Amino acid sequence: MEKQIFKKRELKKYKIELADSHCHLDALENKNFSEFISYGVLTIITNGTDTKSNIETLNISDNKHIFAALGIDPSTALNISDKELIFNIELIKNNNKKIVSIGEIGLDFKIAVNENDKNKQKYVFEKMLDLANELNLPVSIHSRNSIDEVIKILKSKNIKKVHFHFFEGDLSYLEYIKQNNYLISIPPFSSSKRDKVIKEIPMQNIMVESDAPAAGNTPIDVEKAIAIISKIKQIEFEKTAEIITNNTKMFFNIKNKTNLNIMRK
Ligand SMILES: [Zn+2]
Repeated sequence: MEKQIFKKRELKKYKIELADSHCHLDALENKNFSEFISYGVLTIITNGTDTKSNIETLNISDNKHIFAALGIDPSTALNISDKELIFNIELIKNNNKKIVSIGEIGLDFKIAVNENDKNKQKYVFEKMLDLANELNLPVSIHSRNSIDEVIKILKSKNIKKVHFHFFEGDLSYLEYIKQNNYLISIPPFSSSKRDKVIKEIPMQNIMVESDAPAAGNTPIDVEKAIAIISKIKQIEFEKTAEIITNNTKMFFNIKNKTNLNIMRK
């Protein structure tokens, strides 16, 4: 409790708003989302992963501070029935005005252990990409141990707006990302491979994420990711946060009017 009060006071001096490009609010134990907003994370993109979480994510979103991304993630893709997949596709189509992205979707070859599993993930991933094209929405991509295959499929589907969440690729993917104006998001942890990417990638291609509760605890942890970027880029924290928040709102086409002073009264 004391820690929270200290943090609140500390951020007030920044005078900037933060944005979390990828988390899972439906899976959080702390359902007091207004806490994160009053702290300064005024834009939160929360991702669904399966039927239950897609429905919850829709219910949680207010399109003021909390925005929904809906999708079938690679772990759900392993076991989803055709009937359930169709249900989710219809859910997304019927609510397409209420969502800002198709996500979380992608491939995960750490959990897909054989060709059969990989093919199941690819099948669902391609269905989700077709949906993004049809609804003209960006995609939020999970690409653990599978980035080459993911890129191959993105190219084949001619996907225009791509967000690589929890980016784990190395410098060799930089040109591809820059050329396509894709964005990567940085989690609240350092890795030497990712630090090298942060150093070289233009600021316009970066967002931050908490991936709470999977990686960070709450959306507030994006401040750790901003601090990592700020240090590597040698741009002051506030300026880094400002650029990243703008990137996030532009990418997801979010035009929420936000005022930190009012939020904190
Ligand atoms: Zn996630």
